[in-house]
Amino acid sequence: MENCIFCKIIQKEIPTSFIYEDDRMVAFKDINPQAPIHILLIPKEHYASLNDVPEDKKDILSHLLLKARQIALEQGISERGYRIVLNTARDSGQEVLHIHFHLLGGRRMNWPPG
Ligand code: 5GP
Ligand code: ZN
Repeated sequence: MENCIFCKIIQKEIPTSFIYEDDRMVAFKDINPQAPIHILLIPKEHYASLNDVPEDKKDILSHLLLKARQIALEQGISERGYRIVLNTARDSGQEVLHIHFHLLGGRRMNWPPG
């Protein structure tokens, strides 16, 4: 998708080191971390948000989620705990319109979120 920052990261037009990559997704550190560990997980196919993932592509969601679980384990935050965030559309504060899970950890999280 043209003019999508995350598509540019996937295409390597914006140099970013990947924590994980396979044929369907990549994971990389957030440029403006909100916790000691803040990693973004995104599908290689462009969907603007959760609202735009077609029913027949739903497998990518479980793939991203379980990869977040694996990365949390590898990053050593699995037992202490972590938060996975999926901002969706305007009221959530979603800024980049390419669906992404945030994996946040390494500090105590507050609830309710802001
Ligand atoms: P949103 O608010 O859309 O849920 O989250 C977008 C996230 O993408 C933000 O946490 C922001 O810091 C991150 N981000 C935006 N542009 C870039 C970039 O070019 N590189 C990286 N690594 N993260 C980015
Ligand atoms: Zn995109």
